[in-house]
Amino acid sequence: MQLFDSTEGIRSAVLENKKQGKTIGLVPTMGALHEGHLSLVRAARTCDVVIVSIFVNPRQFTNERDLKEYPRKLDGDLAILKGKCDLVFAPGINDIYGNSPVSSLDFGDLGSRLEGEFRPGHFNGVGLIVAKLFNIILPDYAYFGLKDLQQYLLIKQLVKDLSFPIKIIGCTTIREESGLAMSSRNLKLSEKGIAVASKIFEGLNIVKEGFDSGESIDNCRKRAAKYYERINGLEIEYLEFASEDLTILNDLNGAKEISVCIAAYVEGVRLIDNLYLRQ
Ligand code: AMP
Repeated sequence: MQLFDSTEGIRSAVLENKKQGKTIGLVPTMGALHEGHLSLVRAARTCDVVIVSIFVNPRQFTNERDLKEYPRKLDGDLAILKGKCDLVFAPGINDIYGNSPVSSLDFGDLGSRLEGEFRPGHFNGVGLIVAKLFNIILPDYAYFGLKDLQQYLLIKQLVKDLSFPIKIIGCTTIREESGLAMSSRNLKLSEKGIAVASKIFEGLNIVKEGFDSGESIDNCRKRAAKYYERINGLEIEYLEFASEDLTILNDLNGAKEISVCIAAYVEGVRLIDNLYLRQ
């Protein structure tokens, strides 16, 4: 496994591999790696060369403190990745943003709902870093977790809109035994906080039970509210039902796919999750 901290270095390594006709798979991450990230790395193993990028992207943070406190564990991450991927790209901030880009990517409605509503500007930053990584690394395939469903849909749109010759692969959410979606942010929770956070997924399953038994979206919403209001220490930011293009649903409205998406705070840590009700 080779580590690169500069755009030039990774690019020449990639070009060398491409010259030999090898396919390149990219797994973009912000580090503090866990099994969720590793599931993406495993999925990427169908490519000849697997590249993991590790970069805490300041442009996608909407809160200074969140950025400052985001877990950074490069040495541990490299130890975890050893033997599992071929190249790691862990650039410094100046290498990525030294030229102080002024461009930003606007994803329209897709970027302004759900996460976009509560974290304005977040997806502009995500779009910018992902577009940069795509241009630096020129992967054939890039792997994203469905835990960040809106991000995944948005990246697929980005690839279509900007004609990147890259196939985007969505990977299922990896969970703790309790059902809690794995997240680097879970590291900031106490044991008690983890128990509270695990209720997030339990609530989504309760919604699904209602949905599967034919309840309306409105009733499913009420069911969720009733369940979550009993849980001390859990503060729901949003709970929405969304169609395949993330249109917010108040009734089934002929939607092909339906997911329930949630953002919640536990011990001041913001967590997101989702569950497909119909796929
Ligand atoms: P992050 O480091 O949080 O930016 O995540 C990097 C990638 O890993 C993103 O595509 C995430 O959607 C994905 N990811 C994060 N947590 C999980 C999880 N629990 N299961 C599957 N993928 C995940």
